Amino acid sequence: MSQEVETRLRGPEGFNLARKAIDQMERHGIWPTAVNFELWVNYLADPDGALGQEITRLLEIGDAFTDSVSEGLAALYLPKAKLNDQIRDTGDQLSRELASVSAAINAAKQSSEAYGLTLATASQSLTAEAGIASLEATVKTLAGATQRVQAENKSLERRLSESSSEVARLREHLEQVRRDATTDGLTNLANRKAFDDELERACQEADATGHSLTLALIDIDHFKGFNDTWGHQTGDQVIRYVASVIGRLGATPRLAARYGGEEFAIIFPGEDHHAAFATLEEIRQEIASRVLKRRSTNEDLGKITVSAGFAERRVGETGHSVMERADSALYASKHGGRNLVSMADPIANAA
Ligand code: GH3
Ligand code: MG
Ligand code: MG
Repeated sequence: MSQEVETRLRGPEGFNLARKAIDQMERHGIWPTAVNFELWVNYLADPDGALGQEITRLLEIGDAFTDSVSEGLAALYLPKAKLNDQIRDTGDQLSRELASVSAAINAAKQSSEAYGLTLATASQSLTAEAGIASLEATVKTLAGATQRVQAENKSLERRLSESSSEVARLREHLEQVRRDATTDGLTNLANRKAFDDELERACQEADATGHSLTLALIDIDHFKGFNDTWGHQTGDQVIRYVASVIGRLGATPRLAARYGGEEFAIIFPGEDHHAAFATLEEIRQEIASRVLKRRSTNEDLGKITVSAGFAERRVGETGHSVMERADSALYASKHGGRNLVSMADPIANAA
């Protein structure tokens, strides 16, 4: 599902979007399979997009939505399926490459065995009794065989060098696909999936090393109002700006992610609440200190502020539980008047 649709399904209009999708599927006589549902919410979220246009076209001509039609649409238009296809294609290319290299190696092995046989035969015929003519013939055979094996080695070398650049290209491609799958398209920060994976890893690491681990949630204040006033596109630019500040201060070994629509999360591996607080304050102040301008018209957009909440992980605590405490702290920042950074209360939440 696209990031945007994922976000909307987890937002205030999530259930409405899901209900609308199911209603429409029922009206058009389309089975509510998982694939059809995914197609339909994506379609309703963006009816004029490429998928939307295709579904509209199919509905107009009254084509049946068979499983194979759905699978075809999913493969073409749903990012996850597209990704799987890309990974499969790259995997296929790699296997073909490996098969062809191993064929080349086999051929070279055979010709080197044949050469060995030629040498053995020649050494038998190179006896003292052999006449000049016979020697000449033997040398000629040897020269021919040597040339053949040299040529074969050259071609194998060429083939291996071609193949290693092809494998490097495929590896780079896979790496790109992997990056795309873990990166948020709007902000270039890690996406929610990458965050969840890294959180699990960071918790395991903290358990193994006994080091601290702190998690933070950051949410843009009154963003709905901002969108209503300035429009979604300008809103997106603000999300990118906030992401750039968070990304700069949450760089490796920290991990800054877009956690939801206008919400961000940071993992602070090996850092306690003091270090996290200092960074979050820096982020909050940096954002609050700017007067934003609309890029296209240079209009003054006023100030944007963010609220943050953070929690230091207790020994053995799950990532999910730490995030819940960070979320409560974020809630406290919102209630305290916004443009604030709050720490989760470790005692109040110990129950
Ligand atoms: P609060 O200070 O309590 O956080 O107020 P808020 O208005 O920011 O809170 P709420 O969570 O109710 O609204 C978040 C809004 O963010 C809803 C939606 O309009 C906007 N939003 C969410 N994702 C995106 C996005 O990807 N792009 C844009 N432009 N806006 C988004
Ligand atoms: Mg929010
Ligand atoms: Mg908000």
